[in-house]
Amino acid sequence: MDGSTHRLFAASVSIATSTATGAPLWQAAASAVIATASSAGWTSPDADQTWLDWTPGGHRGLMHWWGLPAAVAVAVLVFVPPDSAWAIWALLLGWSSHLLADFIFGEQPPGIPMAPWWSYAGLGLNSGGAVEKALRWGMPAFITWQALALVAGDLLLGWRP
Ligand SMILES: [Zn+2]
Repeated sequence: MDGSTHRLFAASVSIATSTATGAPLWQAAASAVIATASSAGWTSPDADQTWLDWTPGGHRGLMHWWGLPAAVAVAVLVFVPPDSAWAIWALLLGWSSHLLADFIFGEQPPGIPMAPWWSYAGLGLNSGGAVEKALRWGMPAFITWQALALVAGDLLLGWRP
């Protein structure tokens, strides 16, 4: 999947999560920025193409294993007070959205490793193919609608805590 599609997907997932959890607007905006930043490029699992290219399995190896964000999530639940954990959750959300997207679109080997850097699984959709192109063009409109719904819900309807 292309970096821009990764970022759009992360922004969408982050806004949806903030809406569902009733996060304050400032936190929803900050979370979207953090999730977008950790979903592509050198701050994402694709760091295994640049400064983390020495990690086992190379590109789409260990850094693309679901077990890493799962282990961090458990550590957050155990060690970080819930009120101050939102930024780490946003980071994990961006990182995990990248893994989910690579599970769907990653090719050769398909998907992401189920074990630390082997035993790949995924849907193997064509990365950069018609489905991803349609997503890349459709998602900005969808994200705009999501953001408007979030702000409208917060400012006009008052249903958020
Ligand atoms: Zn990747």
